[in-house]
Amino acid sequence: MSESKRTVVITGGSMGIGRAICLRFAREGARIIFVHYDPDDLKANETLGILDKADVEAKAKKLDVSSFSDVEEFFQEVVREFHRVDVLVNNAGITRDAFLMRMSEDQWDQALMVNLKSVFNCTKAAMRSMMKERSGRIINISSVVGEIGNIGQSNYAASKAGIMGFTKSVARELATRGITVNAVAPGFIDTEMTRNLPEKAREAFLSRIPMGRIGEPDEVAETVYWLASKGATYITGQVIHVNGGLYM
Ligand code: NAP
Repeated sequence: MSESKRTVVITGGSMGIGRAICLRFAREGARIIFVHYDPDDLKANETLGILDKADVEAKAKKLDVSSFSDVEEFFQEVVREFHRVDVLVNNAGITRDAFLMRMSEDQWDQALMVNLKSVFNCTKAAMRSMMKERSGRIINISSVVGEIGNIGQSNYAASKAGIMGFTKSVARELATRGITVNAVAPGFIDTEMTRNLPEKAREAFLSRIPMGRIGEPDEVAETVYWLASKGATYITGQVIHVNGGLYM
């Protein structure tokens, strides 16, 4: 095992933006450990297959990021095996859209648990090893919707706005420990999550993007990678928007 390799943990790495982030870190030769939850392993195996072809040391773990105890156990395993976590990307997320009038308690709870509590769970579990090493990068994937809101997404918007507040608070707590904490807020990105949007909502979003096109997962991954690179040593507590001008 080469100790010069960075150990990078990415939640929700089986597809979409998470997969693009795995592949971006793979290009530097990092050790990739990604988490997913769907019992159907197809997407996770696809990601593993691509990483394997590129000769990258990679591992996938099926885990519900909203479970505090399972996340804690997982990070203990990672540290036991690889000694440290250099980079944590909190990317896993879901939508449970409904107008507030019709939103069930379960829809609210699921969105908050998977999108926000997971960020608390993973950050708390990973920061111990980072504090010991006095170095680390934590990047949380928020959303433009956390900034501007969206009809039918009060639960999702609350979770993503919560990530911004969490990021800034933890950045302050860890600033003297050599650990940076930042958030990336994507706009409208081409993944399974947005492919399921009704055509009318898609068109409405597109009409509001000054660059006139949907974003690619790779464009988000590049920003995440940059925040974990030597180029971003003096950047913490920031929310970087990747949205083609949708919010400025
Ligand atoms: P996606 O294609 O639906 O992928 C979501 C990922 O999260 C999958 O790998 C999924 O794995 C994982 N996941 C979901 N629930 C999980 C759980 N309970 N435990 C562990 N993993 C779980 O979504 P995406 O569009 O790439 O979005 C990635 C992140 O970017 C999300 O946080 C999303 O809110 C955010 N974002 C996306 C957009 C966009 O336009 N796409 C815009 C702004 C922000 P399994 O399927 O195996 O569970």
